[in-house]
Amino acid sequence: MESQKNTSQLVNKTSKSEEDEEEQCCANTSGEKNDKQEPSSPKQGDFSDPVYKEIAVANGAINRMSRDELRAKCAELKLDTRGVKDVLRKRLKNYYKKQKLMHSPAANGNSDVYFDYICVVDFEATCEENNPHDYLHEIIEFPMVLIDTHTLEIVDSFQEYVKPVVNPQLSEFCVQLTGITQKMVDEAKPFHPVLKRAVSWLQKKELGTKYKYTFLTDGSWDMGKFLHTQCKLSAIRYPQFARKWINIRKSYGNFYKVPRTQTKLICMLENLGMQYDGRPHCGLDDSRNIARIAIHMLKDGCQLRVNECLHSGQLRSVPNTTPIEGAPAPQTPKKRD
Ligand code: AMP
Ligand code: MG
Repeated sequence: MESQKNTSQLVNKTSKSEEDEEEQCCANTSGEKNDKQEPSSPKQGDFSDPVYKEIAVANGAINRMSRDELRAKCAELKLDTRGVKDVLRKRLKNYYKKQKLMHSPAANGNSDVYFDYICVVDFEATCEENNPHDYLHEIIEFPMVLIDTHTLEIVDSFQEYVKPVVNPQLSEFCVQLTGITQKMVDEAKPFHPVLKRAVSWLQKKELGTKYKYTFLTDGSWDMGKFLHTQCKLSAIRYPQFARKWINIRKSYGNFYKVPRTQTKLICMLENLGMQYDGRPHCGLDDSRNIARIAIHMLKDGCQLRVNECLHSGQLRSVPNTTPIEGAPAPQTPKKRD
């Protein structure tokens, strides 16, 4: 079988050459590795099955390959050859794992991504240069980008600007950073009606009813800070559907085993061999670029699990042993009593 042939070729190959210099777009200051792993793809398979020994042997061979060898192997297997060494390694390991498990009764086949859709959100908010500690950020752009996890494509997007009410005047710094002008927010609606329209957009897509979905953000601030603060300011109950999400920085660091210093948006893109497309700090462009990273990770075999949540207003990690479930259907936002 082609896949088995490829695996044995790989295992027999041992690199005697020195490993290439790591190609990194960001300084690896700490050298610290994050050992937490994305869950392995088999659904509670029998790990005593010899297939896992074979996977471990293939992984060992991949670990000994130079970057050029990794790229050549990816090319031979018709896999994407872009990305730094950590990325190429992970891509190859997942490829072989998938191939091995497909032919093994031990794992019950490979588990595909659980969600039908992943909704990327990247809020922009009022700010000042070196935001004072107690600065009250108000959301000024509400963008969403929807990924179909079956076709691995961006299928739709939503964008509205939002009128801030506590600090209606944008700082010059904020305008320069986000590209959002005073006129854009003056002409926008306040947060409550914008959230209502965002919810009806999600409802029309039948998310949480017909389809399983979850939210994905770049870091913890979008839900943990911006949405949480904004709901308080607008006297709206924090929406149930946004209580849990995927923080892609965590997923990326754990999956490709890179330190957190390499999980900034531009850095993640560059390490995957891509360039930022659009205007940085435009919420919609940020969301699209985050979606491109998520799609790349799904193609590389990452399961992308929910890993953060808000509990009584406090940010918490969701352990990867927690059973996967989709976000609840979005409900029209309710005012606080
Ligand atoms: P981002 O998603 O990186 O565009 O950031 C979201 C929001 O965080 C921005 O709209 C700002 O409110 C704030 N922010 C991001 N970068 C900075 C910065 N360098 N200085 C001050 N605030 C920032
Ligand atoms: Mg942004």
